[in-house]
Amino acid sequence: MTSFATQFQEKARQITSDRGFRAFIQKGLAGYYKKRDENKASFQSWQGARDLAAGIKYEAINHLDRYLMEFSEKMEARGTKVFWAPSAKEARDYILQIAQENGIRSIIKSKTMTSEEIHLNDALEKEGYSVFESDLGEYIVQLRKETPFHLVFPAMHLSREQISTLFHTELGSPLTDDPEELTMIARRAMRRKYCEADMGISGANFAIAETGMISITENEGNARLTTSLPRIHVALVGIEKVLPRLEDLALFLPMLATAGAGQAMTCYNTLYNGPRQPGEIDGPEQMHVILLDNRRTELLADAEQRDALGCIRCGACLNVCPIFKNIGGYSYGTTYQGPIGSVITPHLRGLQEWKHLSAASSLCGACTEACPVKIDLHHHLLQNRRNAVRVKATPSEKIVFLGFAWLMSHPPIYRFATKLGRIFQPLHPLIGGTILDPLLAWTRTRTLPKLAPSSFHEQWTKTRSPQK
Ligand code: SF4
Repeated sequence: MTSFATQFQEKARQITSDRGFRAFIQKGLAGYYKKRDENKASFQSWQGARDLAAGIKYEAINHLDRYLMEFSEKMEARGTKVFWAPSAKEARDYILQIAQENGIRSIIKSKTMTSEEIHLNDALEKEGYSVFESDLGEYIVQLRKETPFHLVFPAMHLSREQISTLFHTELGSPLTDDPEELTMIARRAMRRKYCEADMGISGANFAIAETGMISITENEGNARLTTSLPRIHVALVGIEKVLPRLEDLALFLPMLATAGAGQAMTCYNTLYNGPRQPGEIDGPEQMHVILLDNRRTELLADAEQRDALGCIRCGACLNVCPIFKNIGGYSYGTTYQGPIGSVITPHLRGLQEWKHLSAASSLCGACTEACPVKIDLHHHLLQNRRNAVRVKATPSEKIVFLGFAWLMSHPPIYRFATKLGRIFQPLHPLIGGTILDPLLAWTRTRTLPKLAPSSFHEQWTKTRSPQK
């Protein structure tokens, strides 16, 4: 078992034993389902919209080379510098280089999971730069020195009381459980940071090839300030974010808002097409777009699973996942949590080290059904399991699979074993603390179903016997 797997199991065990926390997370998501379903109903056909969106994303992914070149050329034509970053390190180094060359002191960031993926804050802070998150949820988790709990709702695991105490301790504000007042406290603290920042870093929800623009959706207006007030804007964009045409946003903006947050539309939807042009009175002096690969092209090369690159990071699959709802975001130990995280993390960070995530699924398919771009998530989890065993099965896996294959191909012995199972099942609780204790790992947090008094085969034989 790898250390990541051990950490995952320990954290998951800890969270699942905390019924109060699980109830808190599930209550938080309850309002989302209602609003999502209401907004889905406002689509003429939600299923039709999913088909269309899946087709567009698949087209973009299958012609990524062409669309990325088109996007890059159009952005550069209006003065944006486009940097192709093969890895996380090259992306971080490029941003550090911009900061050094331009005498940057203070940096403000809007929400970008891609920056979490490359551990950007740590790298910048290590070099002495101050970095401030401007998204409210991200700001809260940054104050707590935590990472986002959820792709879309980074601080959903915290109560108002916890946030109020945090602000009281970190910002010296009075205690309050009024959400509006809490927001105003954060807003006052952040406003100063916008004015002091020399560089603003954002992500992008979509990169439009046809027009050379990035599209950012948000609810707080913080991304607009982050990208327009500082003199330099850096957008960190995963190469999979490309959409072929501007008109595609007519589908993707309401779809992302509906699936992601249960909203008809997010409050602010902004297109950015370059730095300040001659005669314009605002906007950044420099704009840089970093197109990040970081092993995405390896996933692209996998014809079976490349559709996972179509993910628009809406978080819907997390919200419906029975595993996520019970183990929470931190158990995963990854940037991308939930079903999509379990699918892509083995590709981005190593199959053997992260294969355990694909096993942490009931394969119920709720994620696949919720996904607006129709990624076959639960099927991909199965493929990851298969690939992990094909590439390198552990000795215990080899023994289990060989034993299972042998047992299933010897029916008389299988039938005898099930009879033994019925006899010895009542002894199951007594093996705790003995040499067989590891066998209890699965049933420690689950009830072992009682074996039926007779097998289907026995019942079938008995039922059919008189007719013979
Ligand atoms: S896999 Fe689908 S449901 Fe999950 S975050 Fe991505 S787009 Fe949303």
